[in-house]
Amino acid sequence: MPKFVFDFTEGNKDLKDLLGGKGANLAEMTNLGLPVPPGFTITTEACRHYLEHGTLPEGLTDEIGAHLSALESAMGKRLGDPGDPLLVSVRSGAKFSMPGMMETVLNVGLNDDSVQGLAARSGDERFAWDSYRRLIQMFGKTVLGVEGDPFEDAIDDAKRAKGVEDDSDLDAADLRALVATFKDVVRERAGRGFPTDPREQLDLAIRAVFDSWNAPRAVLYRRQERIPVDLGTAVNVCSMVFGNMGLDSGTGVAFTRDPASGEQGIYGDYLQNAQGEDVVAGIRNTVPLAELERIDAASYHRLLEIMETLENHYRDMCDIEFTIERGKLWMLQTRVGKRTAAAAFRIACQLLDQGLIDLDEATERVTGDQLAQLMFPRFDEAALKDARRLTKGMNASPGAAVGVAVFSSGAAEEAAARGEDVILVRRETNPDDLPGMVAAKGVLTSRGGKTSHAAVVARGMGKTCVCGAEELEVDVRERRLTAPGGVVVREGDVISIDGSSGEVYLGEVPVEDSPVVRYFEGRLGDAEGGDLITAVDRIMKHADSRARLKVRANADNAEDSARARRFGATGIGLCRTEHMFLGDRRQLVEKLILAETEEERTAALDALEPLQRADFEEILAAMDGLPVTIRLIDPPLHEFLPDLTDLSVRVALAGDGADPQDRRLLEAVRRLHEQNPMLGLRGVRLGLVIPGLFAMQVRAIAEAAAQRRKAGGDPRPEIMIPLVGAVQELEAIREEARGVLAQVARSTGEDVPALIGTMIELPRSALTAGQIAEAAEFFSFGTNDLTQTTWGFSRDDVEASFFSRYLELGIFGASPFETLDVEGVGRLVRIAVEEGRRTRPDLHLGICGEHGGDPDSVHFCHEVGLDYVSCSPFRIPVARLEAGRAAILAGRG
Ligand code: PEP
Ligand code: MG
Repeated sequence: MPKFVFDFTEGNKDLKDLLGGKGANLAEMTNLGLPVPPGFTITTEACRHYLEHGTLPEGLTDEIGAHLSALESAMGKRLGDPGDPLLVSVRSGAKFSMPGMMETVLNVGLNDDSVQGLAARSGDERFAWDSYRRLIQMFGKTVLGVEGDPFEDAIDDAKRAKGVEDDSDLDAADLRALVATFKDVVRERAGRGFPTDPREQLDLAIRAVFDSWNAPRAVLYRRQERIPVDLGTAVNVCSMVFGNMGLDSGTGVAFTRDPASGEQGIYGDYLQNAQGEDVVAGIRNTVPLAELERIDAASYHRLLEIMETLENHYRDMCDIEFTIERGKLWMLQTRVGKRTAAAAFRIACQLLDQGLIDLDEATERVTGDQLAQLMFPRFDEAALKDARRLTKGMNASPGAAVGVAVFSSGAAEEAAARGEDVILVRRETNPDDLPGMVAAKGVLTSRGGKTSHAAVVARGMGKTCVCGAEELEVDVRERRLTAPGGVVVREGDVISIDGSSGEVYLGEVPVEDSPVVRYFEGRLGDAEGGDLITAVDRIMKHADSRARLKVRANADNAEDSARARRFGATGIGLCRTEHMFLGDRRQLVEKLILAETEEERTAALDALEPLQRADFEEILAAMDGLPVTIRLIDPPLHEFLPDLTDLSVRVALAGDGADPQDRRLLEAVRRLHEQNPMLGLRGVRLGLVIPGLFAMQVRAIAEAAAQRRKAGGDPRPEIMIPLVGAVQELEAIREEARGVLAQVARSTGEDVPALIGTMIELPRSALTAGQIAEAAEFFSFGTNDLTQTTWGFSRDDVEASFFSRYLELGIFGASPFETLDVEGVGRLVRIAVEEGRRTRPDLHLGICGEHGGDPDSVHFCHEVGLDYVSCSPFRIPVARLEAGRAAILAGRG
């Protein structure tokens, strides 16, 4: 029979699957000889059995009984003993931290008899009755499902009757009366009395904690955090220690290093004569942990010793919860602590220098998301000290933005059109606010969380956003907001919002470039570095040395290419040529579309070709010696023509006097108009339908490469065909392209080799990858379109219209356009990799959808065996770091 209960002396920190994070760490501390109140952990396996069958697994009750007896002997007390009761806490604790999502019951073991024993033993009658009323309240809510209000109302009534304001002004007699009232509340609302048998209390509390795994908020939290639904929670039964037994008692939290900067020192808060919930509730002000030295020097020094032990043992920064009961220090919890991005890099290198971890581990300890955070512009720290802070909301999308407050999408557009920087302020946003969000530098809302419409859309646009700033009263009609203290911001007043911290300031706070970006750009002066830059530099170099995946850039001009190269790109994975058809060149594209004869078409193409050639030459020069994958034109041609409605109106208004060119254009726009352009005449289909278009582009590429070669350069172009669904499409274009390449080689005398490959952007191309590989020398996964076509989502529409709802419902934890949907889209990628390489073992494989710069997706790309990821220049350092981390983590197996 499996073992379902582990004494704290039996577990260890590596048993998180079975004992949950809290249980595993309590066991680890116990075994380190640290002062942990004795107790035991009921496994997640027991929970899973209970959730599946609705009954406890056989033998569990007896096993709990045996561990309880052992605990009683160790403590020299019996659970609920009327003379000197042992009391226990019953706490949830899953493998992954789910803060506040599941249940806890404290003071189990109190009843009408044992409360007397507790009073006598503690010499504090008030404390005993307060503990008892807390038990009935917590038990009533958590275990018996009574709502919280009647308890709170009863406390308010008691205070009102006595004419006092504070809970602490209620004395023992008041609390004893409250206990009686609470018991009545339970009997009325739960249809049963509060159980007085201590063991029954314990058993019911354990079941309630198991059940809380499926509480709606826990279910939602798991979906959003992508925690598997079937893990279950462990239950920790721990002897109670009390921080509320007088001034020689108290409770606190501590970090072994500063979680904001990484510096070593004394960080934490302490609250005298209090229990943990009082700290969380913020009823009284805590004091800095350093003050504990004055209050209780012995406990303070013991705590510092323990913190050092924990750090050396966990080889990482830890956070700690502790309680002091009458001068005796107890450890209630520890875990590896959360930290800011800058602290993560600093701490990793500090631990490296202390010899606690090696470079591989230091690299594992930081993430691409943290690096990305460090690359956003930020407010000047010195200026922040004097800034007038209005409030703090949720840090929904990082960055620092300054602008005039505007309260409607229209106002945002108008102000932006006047050249003003604006912050769009709304209670919450909806799809109608989209134009204003596009026009704004940043978005501020007073409602909604990190998956609200504002947050999701702003993140998608890379725009700074603070959401859910609930202290702000936003009055859209009056065009103003009111901040705490009555400060009023009217439309046109300047505000500054910090999407990395959630802070909102009145007036302009100066913004500065991130020093990390300046470092990557090679623009950082020698004296400017500091320990953060040193840490980033060491870890990046190591990640590069470990990475198997190469990192290329999505770039379509020389400037972006040069920046990408400075950021460490090893080539271009996607050069979108359609961007070269915009601006002044639009007219030439119009001519091409309107061409009625062979001559007109050739003339239009001939005019476009030198322009394209010049673009390619510049890019090939910027990426000299590195591969440049150039994608032939992809979007539907009508994107380059005037809008159908505008043009119809213009022609209709002009009547008989309408410009003949406009009439011809209108005809063409009508002819090319499509209901679903994303699924229409685009990509390879254009190349097959518009004679000469792709050939012109290939010629421009080949001639640009020949020029570069003549100038002494080392051009390495690759030609990529978009939106292929069948090998026959690719074969036709490939033959044409090969012909053009040979012609240019003959005419220029420079035979520059160019691989010809395809994008995999349609389910059909993934499913027939074995055939397609016969005609392709490389595949590049266009996971933007592949996600769109696999899910049937129009990416230009769905993110803004209903993804926030989908995220709230937990249908996915992240937009599949941000993080690759491994099960669906990823499955297609896997099939294409396998079948493509079966046909052509040296098939070169990459990804150039937005996912190429997303940390989780980079790990997937490593795992399926791609050769490179390609992403926007700004994401390149993130992809490099994650490529290194993916290799290190995979090596650990
Ligand atoms: C893609 O579909 O993933 C891709 C890179 O092409 P685009 O985003 O230009 O459609
Ligand atoms: Mg595409």
